[in-house]
Amino acid sequence: MSLSRRSALLGAGATVLAAGGAIALAARDKPEPVSPPSLDPQGRMLWRNWSGIASSYPAVRSAPKTEAELAEVLKTSVAPIRAVGAGHSFTALVPTDGTLLTLDRLAGIESWQGDEAVVRAGTRLGALGPALAAHGRAMANLPDINKQSLGGALGTGTHGTGKGLKAIHGDVTALRLATVDGRLIDCDAKTNPAIFNAARVSMGALGVITQARLKTTANRRLHRHVWVEPLDKTLAEAEARFAKHRNYEFYAVPFTDLAANITHDETDLPATPRPASSDDATLNVLKQLRNLAGFSTPFRKAVAKTLMGSVPPEEAVDEGWKLLSTDRPVRFNEMEFHLPVETQFIALKEVIAAIETHRRDVFFPIELRRIAADDAWLSPFQGGPRGSVAVHCHYKDEYEFLFALVQPIFLKHGGRPHWGKLHSLKAAELAGLYPNWNDFLKVRRELDPQGRLLNPYLKGLFGI
Ligand SMILES: Cc1cc2nc3c(=O)[nH]c(=O)nc-3n(C[C@H](O)[C@H](O)[C@H](O)COP(=O)(O)OP(=O)(O)OC[C@H]3O[C@@H](n4cnc5c(N)ncnc54)[C@H](O)[C@@H]3O)c2cc1C
Repeated sequence: MSLSRRSALLGAGATVLAAGGAIALAARDKPEPVSPPSLDPQGRMLWRNWSGIASSYPAVRSAPKTEAELAEVLKTSVAPIRAVGAGHSFTALVPTDGTLLTLDRLAGIESWQGDEAVVRAGTRLGALGPALAAHGRAMANLPDINKQSLGGALGTGTHGTGKGLKAIHGDVTALRLATVDGRLIDCDAKTNPAIFNAARVSMGALGVITQARLKTTANRRLHRHVWVEPLDKTLAEAEARFAKHRNYEFYAVPFTDLAANITHDETDLPATPRPASSDDATLNVLKQLRNLAGFSTPFRKAVAKTLMGSVPPEEAVDEGWKLLSTDRPVRFNEMEFHLPVETQFIALKEVIAAIETHRRDVFFPIELRRIAADDAWLSPFQGGPRGSVAVHCHYKDEYEFLFALVQPIFLKHGGRPHWGKLHSLKAAELAGLYPNWNDFLKVRRELDPQGRLLNPYLKGLFGI
């Protein structure tokens, strides 16, 4: 009931705005970005990431069925050899004109060790949910979407939100790495500990993870609550909400002074599944609001408050793996930094002020989450918990301003970049952010002395 009213309200808002703003829409909606050709002059097929900004024409594509086949590919195939999961990273981690390697055929749960599941790295998070639930277990947390492969999610330090919950790699207790010399190396905190510390978050730059042992939790039902309120109220209460709720995040919506809040808490209530998401309708309203009212920030804010201020809350109860992730059919590009918790809201306020002053074209909500600490060397959460701030741009819109306008704010406040999301940092800056940066590079050199795993983006990142 509440959701259908919510969608109806937003849908009506979109219609009114579209009717009133037809001329403005025609002037402001951008054409589709030009796609590179699907074949290059040598007849090699195009590979592109989810948002469309990273691409290449791999000479070889490989999908090994066994670890032995994978080891052979790593030893013999043309460099750079790059593993790909679901291609959902925004940074150019995957593009290669050498070998593109998918672990799609190395998927599923391999075995159980007590409550820990040994999971093959090609497993998509969306498939892992039901597979774990069949054993009464679940991942402790999930990111905003569940399309990622386990290997890809570990590769960039992928995380959800929850003050007491770690990023996915923080729940890994052991893993197996296939290296370019054809070895399969098992590691954990006691066996090959340096490789374990380096490999948990390693962007496919040490070798290919074939499987990881994951802590799991009981598969509990969660109560999901989504509501919109003034941003000032959200900021005043956010810290207490992070402390109180199992999962809490909020989306600050620029040019509206509003925020959408989402909590998830364990419950024994019966399931009342989540209705179809109204996020697309909301995004459409925000886009049309930008197109129609973007010329005047006060007018835009006033219309936003009328349209969105009275949207009713959404409630649902279901198992966590069905609730924590969302479908994101509207494509975007994104920058996310992980900040010391004390500076998270200060940075947010500065980012909103910068965007509202300089970038009237932005309409996507800005996402704030909290992530518990872990000890992987290149984990953005190494050394203490972090508060993340993520800024999104519609895939048709420019995103380059993120580097000039937004990134300096994050850096000023001690932020570390999400490895899979846009940033322009290189080795010299990153070494200052990660105490074990040089330890990581040493392990990398030992495992891949000729740099067969490095594409140009990674060479730049590591200063090689
Ligand atoms: C719509 C959307 C929503 C998102 N939401 C979140 C979110 O909520 N939280 C978050 O933290 N991030 C989020 N991300 C970012 C995303 O989770 C990461 O970029 C993640 O790495 C993508 O996983 P993938 O399987 O697509 O990996 P890819 O992008 O294909 O690869 C990522 C990296 O992992 C490496 N890799 C892949 N497989 C292996 C392997 N088996 N062994 C070693 N290395 C490997 C690749 O070489 C590459 O360096 C989101 C991205 C999108 C597009």
